[in-house]
Amino acid sequence: MKYKIISKIKEKIYKYKCIIIFINKKYNKINYYYKKIINKNIKINKILNKKPNIYKIFNNKQYIYLIVYKNTKINKHIFKKLVIKSFKIINKKNYNTICLFIKNIKFKNIYWKIFNFVKIIEYKTYKFLKFKTKVSKKINNIIYFKINSNQKKKSIKIIKNSLIISKGINKTRDLCNMPPNICNSDYIFKKTKKEIYGKNIKISFLNKKQMKKLEMNAYLSVNKGSNNKPIIIKIKYNNNTKSEKPIILIGKGITFDSGGISLKNSNYMHEMKYDMSGAAVVWGIMYIINKLNLKLNVIGILLCAENLIDGKSTKPGTIIKTLSGKTVEIINTDAEGRLLICDALSYINKYNPKIVIDIATLTGCCLIALGNKISALITNNKSLSKDLIKASKKSNDNIWELPLYKKYNKYLKSHIADIKNCSENNYAGTITAACFLNNFIKKYKWAHLDIAGTAWNKKGPTGRTVYLLINYLKNKIKNKKKYNV
Ligand SMILES: [Zn+2]
Repeated sequence: MKYKIISKIKEKIYKYKCIIIFINKKYNKINYYYKKIINKNIKINKILNKKPNIYKIFNNKQYIYLIVYKNTKINKHIFKKLVIKSFKIINKKNYNTICLFIKNIKFKNIYWKIFNFVKIIEYKTYKFLKFKTKVSKKINNIIYFKINSNQKKKSIKIIKNSLIISKGINKTRDLCNMPPNICNSDYIFKKTKKEIYGKNIKISFLNKKQMKKLEMNAYLSVNKGSNNKPIIIKIKYNNNTKSEKPIILIGKGITFDSGGISLKNSNYMHEMKYDMSGAAVVWGIMYIINKLNLKLNVIGILLCAENLIDGKSTKPGTIIKTLSGKTVEIINTDAEGRLLICDALSYINKYNPKIVIDIATLTGCCLIALGNKISALITNNKSLSKDLIKASKKSNDNIWELPLYKKYNKYLKSHIADIKNCSENNYAGTITAACFLNNFIKKYKWAHLDIAGTAWNKKGPTGRTVYLLINYLKNKIKNKKKYNV
């Protein structure tokens, strides 16, 4: 789909193959030319009194759609519904040119409407067809937003930014959709090098040998049963003064999680390719902030590894010494994400971060606690929590804060090591996982987003938390207005 702007007063709208007009009783100002045509075919006043519906008129080789909506106050939810109604029209056939009168939806300003319209359509039209040998013909429509001429310049920028963000979200979904026989650590590294680049970007990595030297034993214990190599990908984005401490985003990137020796049930095990969703989210964010040229210093850390079964796999009961020096008794090899993250949380101290946020499909318990519509937030800092919740509301990407309840550390007490990697009961699994991680935090502000329930649904990967964190990061910029995101 392509998007353009029309703003000339005497624009020859009849040259467009399809016209979409939103209308309700209060806001029924329609272009004079169309009013005449519509009135010839249907009585506007009559349909405005009926239930909300879509009316189609075919006139002089042109399809005219009237989307009638209720007089109730519009909110984000109703706006989305209206966009989805137009999506059904837009996505049905190759009209080629579509003119859309978005002004008549009386909600927010025109830029907000254009930004979100593009974002919703791009999200909806996403398909993952890489492995289909037969693909049906693509719908290639150009959508023209009819607006006032003084809004043109900003609207063009808005479309551009919305497309960058949508592309980043859809690339995150692509990464999650990639099958585990292809999408391993090496694949993610190569894709990062190929697609995230520019004068502000520096990409480097830590390989197995370097991790061994550093004694990142918790991290390495996860990948022991795999023939694919573990790797930590570091994407440094510097677009602010050197003195500005970086914000660090850490993403869990288990490219396949069998559970290891603590083997998972085979039902739905194929879904465990999504256990790298946290890394994919960080990937998408780094792609977007680089394209938007945001004035920030951010480091994206992708923790890539694979959790498989083999003679070499880590056995439950194993004790390892983490990078921090603390020893961990591994009770369950399926609680592997925290073993990657705990070493990463120690490693990143060298960057002297201001804020650290990790994003991970960490606990199945998160689904029990919050279902598949809400991600869990756990943090050691109140203002960070406030900022993330604010960004979540703006993005329509729900999160709910769970407490970092330190008394639950008792579930992680080991008789023979400093700490266990998980509790032996299932109580408050999402919180105890965060308690485990908290043992490795030094002086920085830290937030943990558990996306185990939200990263995918039955249709596939969702890209959840990418836009949320983009909004969070944008709010960290002083002159954020000029970015229009
Ligand atoms: Zn696991």
